Amino acid sequence: MIQQELQTETENKVLVPLPSDRLESVAGWGSANNGMAYVYRPSTVAQLREIFSWAEKNNRTIGLRGGGNSYGDAAMNDESIVLDFTRMNRILAWDPENGRLTVEPGVTLQRVWEYVIEDGWWVPVATGTANITVGGGAAMNVHGKNAWKMGTFGEHIYEFDLMLPSGEVKTCNRQQNSDLFFATIGGFGMLGCFTSLTLHLKRVYSGLLEVEALTKPNLHTTMQWFEEHLHNSDYLVGWLDAFSKGKQLGRSELHRGLYLRPGEDPNPSHTLRLETQRISPDIMGFFPRSALWRFQRPFWNNFGLRWVNIAKFRAAKLRDGKSYREPHAHFHFLLDSLDWRKPFGPGGLIQYQPFIPKENAEDAFTQILQLCQQRGLPNFLTVMKRHRPDPFWLTHGLDGYSLAMDFRITQRNRARIVQLARELDEIVLLANGRFYLAKDSTLRPEVTRAYLGAETVAKFKALKQEVDPQTRLQTNMWRRVFGPL
Ligand SMILES: Cc1cc2nc3c(=O)[nH]c(=O)nc-3n(C[C@H](O)[C@H](O)[C@H](O)COP(=O)(O)OP(=O)(O)OC[C@H]3O[C@@H](n4cnc5c(N)ncnc54)[C@H](O)[C@@H]3O)c2cc1C
Repeated sequence: MIQQELQTETENKVLVPLPSDRLESVAGWGSANNGMAYVYRPSTVAQLREIFSWAEKNNRTIGLRGGGNSYGDAAMNDESIVLDFTRMNRILAWDPENGRLTVEPGVTLQRVWEYVIEDGWWVPVATGTANITVGGGAAMNVHGKNAWKMGTFGEHIYEFDLMLPSGEVKTCNRQQNSDLFFATIGGFGMLGCFTSLTLHLKRVYSGLLEVEALTKPNLHTTMQWFEEHLHNSDYLVGWLDAFSKGKQLGRSELHRGLYLRPGEDPNPSHTLRLETQRISPDIMGFFPRSALWRFQRPFWNNFGLRWVNIAKFRAAKLRDGKSYREPHAHFHFLLDSLDWRKPFGPGGLIQYQPFIPKENAEDAFTQILQLCQQRGLPNFLTVMKRHRPDPFWLTHGLDGYSLAMDFRITQRNRARIVQLARELDEIVLLANGRFYLAKDSTLRPEVTRAYLGAETVAKFKALKQEVDPQTRLQTNMWRRVFGPL
């Protein structure tokens, strides 16, 4: 397919034009990073190999893309090739006895849970959207609201097949090609592309979770609550009011989720069905969720959001201490029924998500929240999670907390947000913190080297040199974050 389309009589290594009908706008999920690229959507391993071979002959770089849910430029490769994996979306094998699933990389998390839930299985790590692909989730080594307990996505990958830019396919697991295994998970698509992945899923005995909702008056009590519940919870997550100040700084609404044990759900065969999990497109049966942004939009500014945060906290107080049972998909993926980007307007949003060791987290988050307020840039949605370290080379995981913060981008504030991010970087580095490429739009090479360590960066680059000597695999993020090649 590609061969005929792209055949051009040129010498090797000369940049030849790519076909204009492949040119598409390719953006980060937050819509604040935009570019144009030549997009190919292979559906087979043979087509994939053909594209790599053509790119090799014609000296073109290739960026990989899954569902395009990374907030920044991780799945963008301006003015060159983007390989979109969404058509490589077959389920290859499923064993409902032991929960082992083998998929092509473009299968989404939504497809995975829908496929396995009636057999009594669930995804061990669920992100805030189910639209991610398994390949994209593995490449960023994503985490969920249970990160301190279940770790990151990569910890549940048994093995994968990886196509190197040479076209060679290597099977990687903890024993075989183990360097590639630990570097490619979290390696943001820079070493090769997954062509299949085998995952272990999580056994569940009900389609429902027991959920407890409560509020805490400030950051200290919020973090105390997390620590007190690590041992007896399955999920913990906090929303923080980033506008609150003084003694109320970091006040929060918290949710704690627990799996039901065998026998606790009187009717598991009903609750494990897709019908129970589906999120209604309407609120209270008549108002379409997809239209909610029209009401949010006028409030999506510093003044309006202050009141939205106050109202949200007060509403949460009314539910303080309440427990209820909720389908897994509702607990994890409610945001998918809205378009969370739309209220942010045409400039989009960026997310800044630092990870801080637990002993430094309260102090660092206090400084971060205060600095955002002082700069007149309080973030609009702030989510706290608890994490643990993991064995992957470019990990964001540590024994501590993360704070995911959404900033609205406008023409007027873009430069100020970038400057703020630089100041925040200093706080994070001083606290021995880390960053997360899936959410990033502002990291600079010196900050990357500082948090990952020069040795790790050198080790990663050496492995890349070995498996991708021509630096065929590149993205805007690679060029930005890993510095001059
Ligand atoms: C609303 C929302 C909520 C989110 N919540 C969370 C959360 O709770 N926790 C969390 O950790 N993340 C979260 N994310 C981020 C998201 O999970 C990650 O960015 C994830 O990597 C996106 O997967 P994707 O399939 O969209 O991949 P893309 O964003 O398209 O790509 C991600 C990376 O994977 C690489 N890649 C893609 N396919 C392949 C392949 N076949 N082989 C090798 N590399 C490949 C790309 O080059 C890129 O570097 C959220 C994102 C959104 C939009």
